[in-house]
Amino acid sequence: MITVMKFGGTSVGSAEALTRSAKIIADGEGGKAVVISAMSGVTNQLLWFLDTEGACANDVIAGLMKKHTDAAKEVLNGKQLKNFMTDFEKRIESLRHLIDDKNARNDPFFRDNISSQGERLSSVLMAHVLMSMNVESVAMTAEEAGISAVGAPGLGSANLSKTSDGLMMSVKPLIMRGVVPVITGFYGCNEEGKPLTFGRGGSDYSAAVVANGLDADCLEIWTDVDGFMSADPRVVPEAIKIDEMNFGEAAELAYLGAKVLHPRTIEPVRMKHIPVKVRNSFKPQSQGTLIHHLKKKKNELLRSVAMKADLSIITVSSSEIAYRPRMVARIIEKISDAGVIL
Ligand code: ADP
Ligand code: ASP
Ligand code: MG
Repeated sequence: MITVMKFGGTSVGSAEALTRSAKIIADGEGGKAVVISAMSGVTNQLLWFLDTEGACANDVIAGLMKKHTDAAKEVLNGKQLKNFMTDFEKRIESLRHLIDDKNARNDPFFRDNISSQGERLSSVLMAHVLMSMNVESVAMTAEEAGISAVGAPGLGSANLSKTSDGLMMSVKPLIMRGVVPVITGFYGCNEEGKPLTFGRGGSDYSAAVVANGLDADCLEIWTDVDGFMSADPRVVPEAIKIDEMNFGEAAELAYLGAKVLHPRTIEPVRMKHIPVKVRNSFKPQSQGTLIHHLKKKKNELLRSVAMKADLSIITVSSSEIAYRPRMVARIIEKISDAGVIL
């Protein structure tokens, strides 16, 4: 049995959260692959650096080092801490290299490369926390794991069959030996070997892609709420947890703005009938939500409500439209060429 376990930013955002999440991994049964987000706030910090003129790279790097090493010092000691620092400094060094490389900035995938650095740092930290609990573990980048992506910068999709080949070669043998790979979420590697991100919140999608590629028995999304709720609890505090829902409902709600799952999480698991559990890493004793092939009962109307902000409606009207059928197609083509999601 193989379970893919994904931990979001808040679930790895502090020494306590990391320890709690590592314990969940250690206690899990069977073979496990972990997919991890950046520590909370880190991706925003990297994007702020990219978008702010005059932002100081050294300050950003120093901030990232402090956040990760402060957490490490609370959890690891002696030799464990020393080993972590050796691996962590290699990752920081390659980030420094990337920022110092003036040519890299002209690369269309530079933004994807910088914004995905948080996952490269958190994966090393989680692997070392697991090792400190006597769980044999190894941090793996999406490149090393073989997650293959296609698409325009910031708008990647996984190439599922290529990813499966990669995972079967690099990740499956580790799982079979009882090692827990901790894989970076959020991005894959494109044909040219460049990092290509899956959009904000993309680690859920990465985890679904890994579950698909490994033919996993279950995908667990460990987050900071009790499960898939009847509404966003930050907006509707009375929202209640949904015990069970079907793939279609979850896919539609995620697509329409329920941030608990990246909009594209469901497709890679639904096609292989892999059940998904959404669970609270701060309350591992509670069962969360099970998403699977569930027949809707008669008279069931509404499972949950989702909301999307920052939407635009474009109205195009012209008496010509009726007489020029290609016109609508051309308008849509132009909008999607500009990278707008329809
Ligand atoms: P993670 O860092 O674990 O990926 P996210 O912040 O991306 O976590 O997603 C979890 C958040 O999704 C919750 O804190 C909650 O505010 C929000 N959310 C929106 N809609 C829902 C919903 N229907 N059920 C649960 N959480 C929701
Ligand atoms: N770290 C990325 C983000 O903040 C991906 C993720 O957390 O799922 O969008
Ligand atoms: Mg998320």
